Amino acid sequence: MTQAQPPRPSRLCASINLDLPGKQVGDIMLRWSDNSVPLGYHPVPIVSLRGSDGPTLLLLGGTHGDEFEGPAAILRLIERLDLADLTGQIILIPALNAPALAVSSRVSPLDGQNLNRAFPGDPDGGPTAMLAHYVETVLFPRVDAVIDLHSGGKASVFAPCALASRCVEATLTAANLDLACAFGAPLIWMLGAHNDNRSVNAAAARSGVPMIAAELGGGGNITPGIVDMTETGLLRCMSHLGLLNKTVPPLAPPQLVEVTSAFDSLYAPANGLFDRQVSAGREVKAGEVAGHLRFPDDPARTALDLSFPNSGFVLAHGNRGMVRRGDLLALVAQNVPEGL
Ligand SMILES: [Zn+2]
Repeated sequence: MTQAQPPRPSRLCASINLDLPGKQVGDIMLRWSDNSVPLGYHPVPIVSLRGSDGPTLLLLGGTHGDEFEGPAAILRLIERLDLADLTGQIILIPALNAPALAVSSRVSPLDGQNLNRAFPGDPDGGPTAMLAHYVETVLFPRVDAVIDLHSGGKASVFAPCALASRCVEATLTAANLDLACAFGAPLIWMLGAHNDNRSVNAAAARSGVPMIAAELGGGGNITPGIVDMTETGLLRCMSHLGLLNKTVPPLAPPQLVEVTSAFDSLYAPANGLFDRQVSAGREVKAGEVAGHLRFPDDPARTALDLSFPNSGFVLAHGNRGMVRRGDLLALVAQNVPEGL
């Protein structure tokens, strides 16, 4: 019989003590010796707001560094939240992948890795694996809920939605869905068998912690109004979790969708210029034209009319003009029947 290995400790540490009350501002110190920082650390800013006793919420933004809506909303809360209104603790990390946000990159410039495909991570791996390991082994065990804010980044634009995972434990699925409803986005994207088990969502499910993500637009910038919606949604989640000593008005019930087949979505069949006709946030029918693929290097060539392979709801559209064969042009989801 092989002996169980003791858990390997994180090589990262925070410059603040999360057990202390009040407002603290510091860094997760990511020590990765490279040409730019040979002996110091790459800072990942972290803020703790701890009021009277209560639950703990972890807010993450910038897991991908070209998604700006989440960091903006979390920075607003750091500026505007009043400790006197808090029952419990909020740990706010505006840019979990801070080195990536600094250069507006989806993946880390330190090792080219995607943080949302790096869980459960590795304390002895590269900087992205070390960061994922810290989140899953140091932060998740001390929190009661997690919210991870994403958007379509430079590559795509999403209909604003909250994402909730279906988990093995029905109670955790229900808690995820309740939190997603509390966020108040018009749409909820249910994650099931197609979700990647190396994501923040999957890590939270492994840890048994209720969690939602959100997709908040994208296109490599911030659409006016979306950070307002996110800020209000986060306050509504805090109220739902019992963290906020004031009420936030509820919203209308959301629409629930799920990606049930990768083959409902539309991909570029060739390299070319995509003359897009449909935006995220719309119901479409099978056979409906999504756009035309044109060929700037061969103007005499007839354009390809690209149509949706199946009916559904366009959850996201690609944000690129010139596309390559295999690029996602439209992510198509299906409505979830009532009662899941
Ligand atoms: Zn993302």
